[in-house]
Amino acid sequence: MTDRVLIFVEQREGRINPVSYQMFAAARALGIDDVWACIIGRGVDGLVDTVAAYGAKKILLIDDPALEFYRPLTYARALCSAIEAADPAVVLMPTTFMGRDLSPRVAVRMHAALATDCLELSRDNGVCRVTKSLYSGKVTGTFTLAAGRLQMVAVRANAYSAPAPSEGASAETQSIPYTAGDGDDRIKLLEVARTSGGVKDVSEADIVVSGGRSLKSEENFKIIYELAEVLDGAVGASRAACDAGYQLHSRQVGLTGKVVTPRLYIACGIDGAIQHLAGMRGSKLIVAINTKREAPIFNVATYGCVADLFVVVPLLTKAIARLKETG
Ligand SMILES: Cc1cc2nc3c(=O)[nH]c(=O)nc-3n(C[C@H](O)[C@H](O)[C@H](O)COP(=O)(O)OP(=O)(O)OC[C@H]3O[C@@H](n4cnc5c(N)ncnc54)[C@H](O)[C@@H]3O)c2cc1C
Repeated sequence: MTDRVLIFVEQREGRINPVSYQMFAAARALGIDDVWACIIGRGVDGLVDTVAAYGAKKILLIDDPALEFYRPLTYARALCSAIEAADPAVVLMPTTFMGRDLSPRVAVRMHAALATDCLELSRDNGVCRVTKSLYSGKVTGTFTLAAGRLQMVAVRANAYSAPAPSEGASAETQSIPYTAGDGDDRIKLLEVARTSGGVKDVSEADIVVSGGRSLKSEENFKIIYELAEVLDGAVGASRAACDAGYQLHSRQVGLTGKVVTPRLYIACGIDGAIQHLAGMRGSKLIVAINTKREAPIFNVATYGCVADLFVVVPLLTKAIARLKETG
């Protein structure tokens, strides 16, 4: 085992999930200079220069028609072969839906120690130390990974800021053949359903405007979209709003949705249940708009506005648009 980190760069249909770039900052936090990356998929060789710009010394490519779409067993097999080729001390990947699914499968196969959804990383005598948010964000725990074996860490989105890419950087590449294994087709891909249709994803956005059940309909969410648009942000929603069918669950923020830590989170008509807070309390600046003065969302808000969202949100959108116009 070498003192090297291997970063799993997540891509879908040739588009890299930008959260993957944050892993290069996480690698720096571990103090490891020998950073390799691996890209798994079909027709992914065009992504090499982009990944090299973030500081990968070497990029392992596993490019095969069988890997066109994410499937747990084929990707786990591919990532295991990349790990065998790189022989790293640490594997880093983002805690996305793919990362949550893939990391334990690979950890079991590689007999690795694994910590997921980690916030802060450090390393002492070859042992990774990570912090995790526990009990819906009420406490933070620090853990060390078992020594003497491969250490795998899945890092929460936006826990680290991606380093600035350096133009013109290059990396050595190595292609690794993909060999299908017995039973890989136990999980079959039947359909790829597109849910967010090109609209910015909450976990990638710097600004998130979220709406709750109080919006009362999908149509009424229009004012949330207008505010998000003028701020160049993404739209999120509480679970109650998603369960009611006002928004797709891919927009749900919270314990059972996505965890976001944007620069600005605007909660419109969201009560602030502990499960919602678990997904957004790490945001740098929180603005809450709610008619109920005692709503728990105000306990975590930087700025609170006790008012009707149907009045305030359009006013805010107009004011920001005007500010942008006047520079
Ligand atoms: C296991 C489990 C997991 C869960 N996971 C999640 C999760 O991931 N994410 C999540 O969000 N929830 C989750 N929940 C649900 C959570 O407990 C709450 O029920 C939910 O967050 C409530 O959503 P809400 O704030 O939109 O709705 P409500 O609780 O109905 O609150 C609506 C708020 O809007 C305010 N309001 C009403 N009208 C207006 C108006 N005109 N202008 C301004 N404010 C107004 C009200 O004062 C109130 O504060 C989970 C629950 C469980 C049990």
